[in-house]
Amino acid sequence: MKYRTLPRGGERVSEIGLGLAKIHEAGKDGVRAALKTALGAGINFFDLCCTEKNVYRLFTETVGEKRGEVFTQMHLGCAYPEGQYAHIHDKDEIIAAFEDTLAFSGDTYADCGMFHCVDEEAEFESIVAANGLLDYALGLKKQGVLRHVGVSTHTPAVARKFMDTNEIDLIMFSVNPAYDYTKGDWAGGSHEERLALYNEAERRGVALSVMKPFAGGQLLDSDRSPLNVSLSRFQCLRYALDRPAVVTCLPGVSGEADVKALLGFEDADPADTDYSVMAKAAPAEAQGRCVYCNHCAPCPAGIDIGLVNKYYDLAAAGDGLAAEHYKKLSLNADDCESCGHCDDHCPFGVDQSSRMEEIAAWFAGR
Ligand code: SF4
Ligand code: SF4
Repeated sequence: MKYRTLPRGGERVSEIGLGLAKIHEAGKDGVRAALKTALGAGINFFDLCCTEKNVYRLFTETVGEKRGEVFTQMHLGCAYPEGQYAHIHDKDEIIAAFEDTLAFSGDTYADCGMFHCVDEEAEFESIVAANGLLDYALGLKKQGVLRHVGVSTHTPAVARKFMDTNEIDLIMFSVNPAYDYTKGDWAGGSHEERLALYNEAERRGVALSVMKPFAGGQLLDSDRSPLNVSLSRFQCLRYALDRPAVVTCLPGVSGEADVKALLGFEDADPADTDYSVMAKAAPAEAQGRCVYCNHCAPCPAGIDIGLVNKYYDLAAAGDGLAAEHYKKLSLNADDCESCGHCDDHCPFGVDQSSRMEEIAAWFAGR
């Protein structure tokens, strides 16, 4: 398992995590088996927006002594009347439900308390200003009941507003090629807005955990895919993990078999994670823009073309750390030999050799 570091807090989190909304379908023994397999494989990031309340206790029991090694997201806005999930909006109900669920789970803290599914700007105003729910969450953070405060949203404008409070460490955001190309029911924000959000989150040290990496399964089936091409799970995971600020992907699992199916990702052949086939569906505004896929590899000069482009985009957006990372690369745009191999092999129509000149010139002045 590969790990990434949370910019705020420094925790090492597995780049593949799990969403547990459907894990109850496995039954009690199946939930335990799935979690044990995940923990044994080094998965340490779990989103606990469960459909059945029962799962919280099973989770705590199964994790047991490994609790200090795992990172949990719990949601402020989930309640469990009759033991089943409900999305609630009233402040007092949210607080009561969160405290009840945490107590029921047998745990004493959550690594991140997430405002649950805040998709409208009016909801942001309500949480932050009108009802003081943000203050409540920050109070829990002071007490150690939460280690971080975050938000789950599908809307870039809402994510921005939360980032602007400077109190949010983590955003659970829906990232996949369909939504980034503004296709599909949950594709909030324009293509440009979404890319700008990822860059801005990276610049500010706000991490993204990814929900819906397969667009609810639609991307896996060409008949249902909004892109009209099918992608594999591994292609979708690679795509999401290549976006700036992303620290982990949280595919939903409904049993041990789903967990096992994800584990091959870390050792997969690069050809099996190459997502450049999505270029066929790229909208006009995405043509000519590098998506960091490295489909044009190998570069005869040895340059990691995707990484050079990613650092450049981030640095140009004001991310000083990304500029430092760029300068530490053993090979960068200065080493480009203008051979044109990348231009000939880029399915997104990027004039990469010219872009290398642009990147080299930009950094030369700094
Ligand atoms: S130049 Fe094209 S093929 Fe190469 S990394 Fe960028 S988008 Fe991918
Ligand atoms: S043009 Fe430059 S970056 Fe592209 S493959 Fe050739 S040497 Fe590598």
